[in-house]
Amino acid sequence: GGARPRMVYDLSEGGADMKPLLGGKGAGVAEMIRIGVPVPDGFTVTTQACVAAMEAGGVWPDGLWAEIEAHLDAFEERTGRRLGGAERPLLVSVRSGAVVSMPGMMDTILNLGISDESVVALAEESGSPRFAWDCYRRFLQMYGEVVEGVPAHAFSDEIAALKNRRGVEQDTDLTVEDLTELVGTFRTVARRHTGEDLPTDPREQLRRAVRAVFASWDTPRAGVYRRAHGIADDLGTAVNVMQMVFGNRGDTSATGVCFTRNPSTGAKELYGEFLVNAQGEDVVAGIRTPRPLAEMEQVLPGAYRELLDTMARLEQHYGDMQDIEFTVDDEHLYLLQTRTGKRTAAAALKVARDLVAEGVIDRATALRRLEPGQLDQLLHPGLDPDHGRTPLTRGLNASPGAGVGRLVFDADTAAERGAAGEPVVLVRWETTPDDIHGVIAAQAVVTSHGGMTSHAAVVARGMGKPCVAGAGDLRIDVEARTVSVGGTVLGEDDVVTVDGSTGAVYAGALDLVPPQVTDDFTEVLGWADDVRRLGVRANADTGPDAAKARELGAEGIGLCRTEHMFMDAARLPVVQAMILAEEPAERAAALDRLLPMQQADFEEIFTAMSGLPVTIRLIDPPLHEFLPDLVEQSLLVQRLEDAGTTGPELDDARTLLAHVKRLSEMNPMLGTRGVRLALLHPEIAQMQVRAIARAALAVRARGLDPHVEIMVPLVGFAEELRRMRDVVVSTWEQEVPAGDLPYSVGTMIELPRAALVADAVAEHADFFSFGTNDLTQTTVGISRDDAEGSFLHTYVDAGVVPDNPFASIDVDGVGELVRIGVAKGRTTTPGLKTGVCGEHGGDPASIALFHEIGLDYVSCSPYRVPIARLAAAQVAL
Ligand code: ADP
Ligand code: MG
Ligand code: MG
Repeated sequence: GGARPRMVYDLSEGGADMKPLLGGKGAGVAEMIRIGVPVPDGFTVTTQACVAAMEAGGVWPDGLWAEIEAHLDAFEERTGRRLGGAERPLLVSVRSGAVVSMPGMMDTILNLGISDESVVALAEESGSPRFAWDCYRRFLQMYGEVVEGVPAHAFSDEIAALKNRRGVEQDTDLTVEDLTELVGTFRTVARRHTGEDLPTDPREQLRRAVRAVFASWDTPRAGVYRRAHGIADDLGTAVNVMQMVFGNRGDTSATGVCFTRNPSTGAKELYGEFLVNAQGEDVVAGIRTPRPLAEMEQVLPGAYRELLDTMARLEQHYGDMQDIEFTVDDEHLYLLQTRTGKRTAAAALKVARDLVAEGVIDRATALRRLEPGQLDQLLHPGLDPDHGRTPLTRGLNASPGAGVGRLVFDADTAAERGAAGEPVVLVRWETTPDDIHGVIAAQAVVTSHGGMTSHAAVVARGMGKPCVAGAGDLRIDVEARTVSVGGTVLGEDDVVTVDGSTGAVYAGALDLVPPQVTDDFTEVLGWADDVRRLGVRANADTGPDAAKARELGAEGIGLCRTEHMFMDAARLPVVQAMILAEEPAERAAALDRLLPMQQADFEEIFTAMSGLPVTIRLIDPPLHEFLPDLVEQSLLVQRLEDAGTTGPELDDARTLLAHVKRLSEMNPMLGTRGVRLALLHPEIAQMQVRAIARAALAVRARGLDPHVEIMVPLVGFAEELRRMRDVVVSTWEQEVPAGDLPYSVGTMIELPRAALVADAVAEHADFFSFGTNDLTQTTVGISRDDAEGSFLHTYVDAGVVPDNPFASIDVDGVGELVRIGVAKGRTTTPGLKTGVCGEHGGDPASIALFHEIGLDYVSCSPYRVPIARLAAAQVAL
């Protein structure tokens, strides 16, 4: 066995490249020390140590405490201070810090090292007893809550009660006597909740604090956040022990948070907040509404200028927008954290474009950094800019976008009602990280306290969730479940509209309008188009969808489902007449009526996609899908009979029931559908081919350029495709003079057999389109509609399967069939065009596989086209 890995590093030993071991925060402060930015001294316990402790059920690895103590001794030596000392006391913060930042989701304890002895020394040394006792009460509050599990409100209630008795508003109005009293009260409160006195030895407190920070990796809110962001559960957190610097030392001290660019819009401008005479937690936890950073220029001009210089330096150093925590301790500036700033999708695009224009990074770097899934945010509807309504109230525009919903006053209710599909808006005094599940489920979040740099705002922006913070006019009554503002009282049944872009909140539901594609979007996705090899098409069934898809960058349609048009209310009776026809002539008459309707649809689509390929799939679902449900129709007949109804009404109902019975199947997904149905009733496919051909000719006659691809679904045997192709070709030739309008005929590959015999199938195909939705169902033998509501989620949660195979392609099974299908297909038809038209076509992980297999294109829903363009570029970089 080799030597045990080190589990503790001094901050001065670390650097940005040690993030996996030291966590983002530890690596970030170490890097700042390395480049000469003022940061307090300290050391970091590694994520590895945390993982080892977690794996051992909380038991620390051998030697961990000894290693921590050795680093603490050296730390005391360097600073000439002692933890909890009665002279020159050392106070530290004990901070969580994971590899992937999870703002506010884990725990931190400040002011550790304060004790009955050291509080006196701190008071003397600083000349401010009030400050020393403020540190003490803050420590007991955080330590009691985080380490000993005392509920947070037990302390905050005492503060509120005391302020009430004293008739003061702010924490800063409390006197030294008040704070001394609070320290005593807090000890009593803690004893009441834990049944024991709090430990008084700071080294013991430190040991427990490290243990608590390790454990905070597993808090429910951290788990919720990780699931929402796809972060692995086994990474663990590092623990950073750092010397305290004090923003609460008086009026020459302050604390704050700033971003090097605006994280909502991406604009290069001052964005930040601060509080005089406070500690960082007051800002990030959203307890107090801080002041805009620009005002710091008046209050603390020296530190302000130094901060601006440091911000610029850090951004330049990292080549990306930074989110920075700072504290001014008696006019001396210290940086406490820097990390890549979380931003909205719009900001991400603007920052990418600007940093490239400024020459800070190249396009490839910019593209690599973008998160494809986040682009989805840009496509959410927003408020009509000309709505002309007067807001109920205004707060800070903490996270842009519009949200409409009924009011809810707590996170659990928001999560419950949101999960049930009801649009809700979460209104809170402040939002704590414990509210994360409610934030995820809500359309928007409104708080009456807290700023734009609070954790709540940071988290909301990262998720693209509209948020208005610090709307101070709101009077929230959580008990009564009402909120009042300027004489208006709203309750749980009332709807509000939140405009996170302006900070306005409106009573009622305002109209939303579709988003506009911005210049940043066009420019940056243009870079993606330059590097990607995979084509990106859209699945679209109508002219407007096709036009939208094209606007979002689709290079054609990969799947147009003709039968969707049959469901239209005006057409369904004709479709039913066609299905129910007793005589061929009757059926032909119904099809003749359907033909011009289908033709009109195709004309719209060819028009929208002029110059680009359009793949039209011939009829796919079983015919009974166009008829009433068997049970309902039986009940109808029953009711008519019971009511003694006779004559044509009953006869018709009975006839229809007979047809429904005749067509009903045990397992329709594997029944008379797709090419099987088309071979059984070639007249349906013939009508569709005629409609396609006539639409193409008509569109071309208008000077446009239709590119027709006709696709046969659910082929399992090469012979099916050979026969169907004959039907398509002979019909086409009746409509279009030979060679006059090029078109191609291909098939969907959605049965494992088709993939396995792809060489034979390809003899009759110009293209393959892998229908990965059905291919997944038929390969894994799982019915999607049945499984997603039952065992599949359990499977994913329990790790039986790595992912939902309907969301992200099953690489080893379905992926392998795609690989085989492409390889075999190309042996008989060199140049065979291949694509994917399942939902996987819009999933970044699946797209990576399709790129690697060498498909020609993916096709996804119009709104996922930008995601696919970016994801396809990232795999090609
Ligand atoms: P979080 O991840 O929740 O932001 P942090 O570890 O960053 O937790 O700490 C919470 C707050 O305490 C931040 O505002 C941070 O700047 C402040 N803080 C942390 N360590 C110190 C320190 N050594 N001196 C002063 N303030 C600190
Ligand atoms: Mg922080
Ligand atoms: Mg299918």
